[in-house]
Amino acid sequence: MTVTRRPLIAGNWKMNGLSGDGLALAEELARRIEDSADPDFDLLICPPFTLIQRVGAALAESTIALGGQDCHAAESGAHTGDISAAMLADAGCSHVIVGHSERRADHAETDAWVRAKAGAARAAGLVAVICIGETEAQRDGGETTTVVARQLAASLPDGATAENTVIAYEPVWAIGTGRTPSVTEVEAVHALIRGDLAQRLGDDEAARLRVLYGGSVKPGNARELMSLTDVDGALVGGASLHADDFWSIAQSSA
Ligand code: PEP
Repeated sequence: MTVTRRPLIAGNWKMNGLSGDGLALAEELARRIEDSADPDFDLLICPPFTLIQRVGAALAESTIALGGQDCHAAESGAHTGDISAAMLADAGCSHVIVGHSERRADHAETDAWVRAKAGAARAAGLVAVICIGETEAQRDGGETTTVVARQLAASLPDGATAENTVIAYEPVWAIGTGRTPSVTEVEAVHALIRGDLAQRLGDDEAARLRVLYGGSVKPGNARELMSLTDVDGALVGGASLHADDFWSIAQSSA
């Protein structure tokens, strides 16, 4: 049986956006999706924590999903500055990014920690967007497939399904650099991820689970990347801050 996976285009605003520009961007995207009859893709916006509720209000009548950029693994407690998955759900989020390479680097997050966060997201009813990907040194050392397989194995929580999990393959060296792997390389890593998911979750679940590509996705390269068999959408950083670019990437995925 052939499974059709609906593309997901996720915008990671990172530490960008104040109420003026952030809300204007969310409102513009909500307008575009409302004006497009039945688009063949899903959109997700992950604003900074400070804008979640106001962006959520701007998207209230829209099909665009709302997500956090991170959550703590604990339900609550003495974790100053952190946000729990339940808090994100309470603020209107349906998704949360975990294990982004910037958090792995800036906050020394390990695979085990990412796995715990993904488990917390599941427990709170959120979809975890689990990021994995090799550094440039690992790529140059020919370790891409080993690193990606190891991160996937160690970051995927028990109970992961196509409904509560999305994987984002993001080569660290491609994030925010304007560089991307060749389509052949992206294709090979995504096929590896799909194969690993099949071994862990079974063929049916793996065939339905969305695997996104992230790393310098732009309007100019999106169509080629999104056309690859095992690429089911994109996690977009810089280009998600511009309505025209983000929208153009989304349209390229359909
Ligand atoms: C990201 O932050 O996940 C990302 C892919 O960033 P960019 O699109 O800017 O490379």
